[in-house]
Amino acid sequence: MKRVIISILSVFILILLNASQIYSKDKCGLGVTLDVIRAFDDRLPVLSDEDMKAILEEAKRIISIKLGDRIKIIFRDNGTISLEDLFKDRSYRKIDFYKRLTAWQYDLNLTEILPLLHTKKFKKYIIRFLKQWDINSLKNFFPDKNINNYDDVFYNLMSVYHNRIKWLKSLKINDSEKLVLEPLPPHQSFIEWLGYMWNQNRYDIIFTNGLIIFDLLSEPYPHAICKHAKVGGCSFFSPKRVPLDGRSLMVNIFGEYGNIEGICDTRENISRELKNKILGGFYFAHEFGHAFYMLPDVYDHGDTCLMNTSFHTMDNVKGYNLLISDLSPCAKCQPWIVAKEYSVKARLAYEKGDYEKAGELYLKGANETPKLVDANYKFYIKGIYEKALNAFQKANNKYGEKKCRRMIKKLGEKIWRSE
Ligand SMILES: [Zn+2]
Ligand SMILES: [Zn+2]
Repeated sequence: MKRVIISILSVFILILLNASQIYSKDKCGLGVTLDVIRAFDDRLPVLSDEDMKAILEEAKRIISIKLGDRIKIIFRDNGTISLEDLFKDRSYRKIDFYKRLTAWQYDLNLTEILPLLHTKKFKKYIIRFLKQWDINSLKNFFPDKNINNYDDVFYNLMSVYHNRIKWLKSLKINDSEKLVLEPLPPHQSFIEWLGYMWNQNRYDIIFTNGLIIFDLLSEPYPHAICKHAKVGGCSFFSPKRVPLDGRSLMVNIFGEYGNIEGICDTRENISRELKNKILGGFYFAHEFGHAFYMLPDVYDHGDTCLMNTSFHTMDNVKGYNLLISDLSPCAKCQPWIVAKEYSVKARLAYEKGDYEKAGELYLKGANETPKLVDANYKFYIKGIYEKALNAFQKANNKYGEKKCRRMIKKLGEKIWRSE
């Protein structure tokens, strides 16, 4: 664990030394350039260049309406790659982060006889994870079951999990070819995505069209498992990526475009234009709020806030229409945006060689960040202090350095939100 953190720190430092034009400042204000790629399974429908343009434009429009345009977003389209090519580099399998994840991997061949599932430690861990929700909200996921306690939730959730996986394995493309490939290719496993995204340093945003099985047993989100046990959009840790401050995100168009009965939206009355608006403005913009501004899912900002929790369970057309029914920014999202702005300004000061100012701005950013972020708060804040430390070292500010070191030590080594 310690090694992981040390390597993250060194990666941050390396990145800071290799500063390039990712952040910019001109008369229009602060800007950030993000690298976008489409990574596709060629057995399934894909996005054209025009689709991509429409999606990114809608994303930009909604982000600037809902979260304001204090920071301009610039998307750089890097075209298309096959999923096989994306996962060609398997060097991520050597890193500790990935190795730790594989200990929690759902085995599609073993399903319910996987030994891990029958250990006391596993049950205890999962119940602790489930306790972040109250029992009544969890009951809703199992309407025809008698749920009285977390043990009941655990057993029912696992049973649903196995059934979903078996069902996924039975799905076919065009009623002929199996959707889930054997052996499972890396691009169909969420754990492989987590490992790959942690290690890569090329992309900030990936649009993909394939089925990604939710095979991470340590974070069995009931809404994800009870729905399809697949991964739609997701924001990842990508410590080597600077533009999203060590994060990246993936948008999966499989649900909108996959055209497989029972798992994809096969309603014929939804135009391609509307699908693209939903993907850009509803799904991607929301994930962007998580990944860039560190906004968590919220329940008390009003229904039309981009980060509204209930969007996850809402029909996508209804959700999109609700989102655009109010085209004004959410005041309650502002504190996260203000905090982020300090970090962007800090980075710019750093690139200009004004290290003292950069360090101070990072500290302000850490200070202003609300306690609830879309990640483990301590891990995120520690990342900011690590950047401040680097800046103070360059400025030869011993007092600043000492302060940062003290905070870094205090913040500990946890990575996951549920730890
Ligand atoms: Zn969310
Ligand atoms: Zn809000």
